[in-house]
Amino acid sequence: MLYKNLEITLHKASPEQKKEKPDQDKLGFGVHFSDHMFTARWNREKGWHDAEIKPYRDFELDPAAMVFHYGQAIFEGLKAYRGKDGQVLLFRPKDNLERLNRSALRMCMPRIPTERFLQALKALVYLDREWIPEAEGATLYIRPTMIATEPALGLRPSDEYLFFIINSPVGAYYSEGFNPVKIYVEDSYVRAVPGGVGEAKTAGNYAASVKALTEAQKKGYTQVLWLDAIERRYIEEVGTSNIFFVLGDELVTPPIRGTILPGITRDSVLQLARDWGLKVAERPVTIDEVIEAAENGTLKEAFGTGTAAVISPVGEFCYKDRNIVINDGRTGKLSQRFFDELQALQRGFRDDVHNWVVRVG
Ligand SMILES: *Cc1c(COP(=O)(O)O)cnc(C)c1O
Repeated sequence: MLYKNLEITLHKASPEQKKEKPDQDKLGFGVHFSDHMFTARWNREKGWHDAEIKPYRDFELDPAAMVFHYGQAIFEGLKAYRGKDGQVLLFRPKDNLERLNRSALRMCMPRIPTERFLQALKALVYLDREWIPEAEGATLYIRPTMIATEPALGLRPSDEYLFFIINSPVGAYYSEGFNPVKIYVEDSYVRAVPGGVGEAKTAGNYAASVKALTEAQKKGYTQVLWLDAIERRYIEEVGTSNIFFVLGDELVTPPIRGTILPGITRDSVLQLARDWGLKVAERPVTIDEVIEAAENGTLKEAFGTGTAAVISPVGEFCYKDRNIVINDGRTGKLSQRFFDELQALQRGFRDDVHNWVVRVG
């Protein structure tokens, strides 16, 4: 195992360094950060080194650090859940770290030692466990990240990297029940192209998407539905979530073929659907097929999947000035069932037959 013996030093925050906890009713998403963070450095000579858990604080970086100029930056997003009897649980964390390594490969960044960094992640979450909110549906969002830190302006892979993990207490996504979203089908901007980096969780993908998002929001929509870059027909993703449709009696999602982020929630939904004996297909879906299905009544539900919201029902979408309402703008039965099941699994209230849940501490 790579770097099995990499030493992780621990510097606990002193009582004065500990921050005041935010108001539990106004957590929002990703605006408050816990007391500690994990950092590790990589260079060509030493590989991973200087691994430490320490009080949360600012970085000092050279203005020439390559991440600022050429964007070698990758990240992950997962959550710690408060389970029954106060247990602290993670959901498929190894899948996140393995996906980070796939992103790293695409971006010419070093592999992380997944086992060792998972130990660090668990130790960090355990140390910050008081930051996991108590409220129903609230969680601690965990953000592992890697950036290129070598000060150099010539274009090539950096020879130095910083890996870090920070934690943010986040409120329940649906504190007042499900709220199906209105989405805008984007037919001019694109998110990813074949041969590009759409499959990697790399910062530039998100920088490239905010223009379409702000324009959609100005028109009154919450998210963008992305179409493929070549024909602008095939459905890819919704915002930063994967997308599912219930077409007739079949659950359909676009296949992972290089331009779509392979979501862990997507994979979990597919697995649950198969467990339940539902008809499932990973196949290309065109926007025309979805519109036709809406018109002839076979489009039953649509929902996004991702760590932040788990399941995000789509109530309406707009394509070329046409508005199409799904399931009267209400949450569909299957959307609700996946949401309830995943939440129960993540909090340890179900038999964990797939070994998805990891206990911390
Ligand atoms: C992170 C992400 C997802 C969802 O992945 P999960 O592992 O389910 O959280 C989907 N699409 C994009 C573009 C993403 O960045």
